[in-house]
Amino acid sequence: MISIQNYVNGELLDPHAEVWMDDFEPATGAVYARVPNSSGEDVERAVAAAAAASKSWGSTPASERGRWLREIATRIETRLEELARAESIDNGKPISLARAMDIPRACANLRFFASAAEQFFSESHSMEGGINYTLRQPLGVVGCISPWNLPLYLFTWKIAPALAAGNCVVAKPSELTPMTAFIFSQICRDVGLPSGVLNILHGEGPRVGQSMVEHPGIHGISFTGGTLTGSRIAETAGPKFKKLSLELGGKNPTLVFADCDWEPTLDGVARSGFANQGEVCLCGSRIFVERTIYERFRDELVQRVASLRQGDPLEAETQQGAVVSEAHMNKILGYIELAKEEGGRILCGGKRHRPAGRCESGWFIEPTLIEGLDATCRTNQEEIFGPVATLIPFDSEEEAIELANGVDYGLAASVWSSNVSTCHRVAARLQSGIVWVNCWLVRDLRTPFGGVKSSGVGREGGFEALRFFTEAKNVCVQFH
Ligand code: NDP
Repeated sequence: MISIQNYVNGELLDPHAEVWMDDFEPATGAVYARVPNSSGEDVERAVAAAAAASKSWGSTPASERGRWLREIATRIETRLEELARAESIDNGKPISLARAMDIPRACANLRFFASAAEQFFSESHSMEGGINYTLRQPLGVVGCISPWNLPLYLFTWKIAPALAAGNCVVAKPSELTPMTAFIFSQICRDVGLPSGVLNILHGEGPRVGQSMVEHPGIHGISFTGGTLTGSRIAETAGPKFKKLSLELGGKNPTLVFADCDWEPTLDGVARSGFANQGEVCLCGSRIFVERTIYERFRDELVQRVASLRQGDPLEAETQQGAVVSEAHMNKILGYIELAKEEGGRILCGGKRHRPAGRCESGWFIEPTLIEGLDATCRTNQEEIFGPVATLIPFDSEEEAIELANGVDYGLAASVWSSNVSTCHRVAARLQSGIVWVNCWLVRDLRTPFGGVKSSGVGREGGFEALRFFTEAKNVCVQFH
């Protein structure tokens, strides 16, 4: 049994209260590791270590901080296969995806922000008889809380800009997927990252996460996760005037127009609905198709989705793995039942999948497409966060936009059309932080990333992240 440890002040430690939880392999349903359920005491130690380290880390030149991040990225690369396997076992995702996307992206995050901090600049405003200039100074100690769907990818997406901007960090990965953050902490210790600069605590959100959000020594919280958790965090952190970045849920629309480029659109729409078992906040789970092509598009999409290879995530050919937990599987299955009650017709999938062999007790759900539902029903309004997408026809551009915007969320959208004017017009009117045109999940790390409405507050990515992790101070100089 693997025993995961916290990383505090440069050391790998058991939790102070010696309370542990089980870490499951979703593909088999078996426990394979134990993970600390850290407490307020662990948070105290981590914050103290981070506060002590921030005295020198904040004034370390950006190039030197960048050197540490690059060194960690290089070590990740040398352990890529081990990390990809760990991510696949811990989360249930296909190892091919972890190899091609999750782990390389973690390296890219570290390298990108190492360079971005070196390129970061601030403003100067000259005025009559003087000049103002803006200093961008680190917040000190910040908290980074990340979810289970893209574990190392989103963990590094937060801690890389936080560290690059000169902050010391107390970070908490999801208790469901702690393994790659644990390996990451071993790497940090092995490269000799100065003690206390980064501290990683494992455990339950309402216990250790909540203590982090409450702690007066943590001056900013960068959170990615569910909308309900986000609002709880905002309630706690708001009255304490902490800086907050909240990347929350989505119920993202996919708009397919009759003049779309057929094959690439089908591929893109299938990928956007079902990549990572639909467990990506950016997944397009509401697919709106122009009525003139609806039936043909639906039938070909069903064919593609039904033929996705589902099974042991550790096999190289697997395209659909397990969902992250038994509770999450039951939640998704509950939504499929709800969809039927709401009048939905299951076009493919619709039930638990039991692969033969070692994964027969694993938490798998067949990729599921549903039609016949009203856009306002719960299935089409609430985030399911699994391999379930719905299809709805539309008659006009106006109607498509109205349907797309008719939810509380506003994270991402994709538009598929070969008419460039349609694409720009529709993109401008979608209530969404991100719009992809004739593509999905194409990422340029310099661009602003985040949602509107219930999908969050603030933006990550590029200089936006560095602005979040710094405080602007204006210095006004009058000439005499
Ligand atoms: P949760 O909101 O349940 O958890 C996210 C993180 O917050 C976890 O580390 C969790 O810990 C922790 N947490 C839970 N309660 C608290 C609390 N009271 N105080 C502090 N921390 C807490 O989300 P999931 O992990 O279930 O992730 C799925 C959600 O994340 C989906 O809604 C998805 O859309 C969203 N997401 C958004 C993204 C975006 O960029 N907008 C990207 C990826 C996902 P623990 O797991 O230990 O409970």
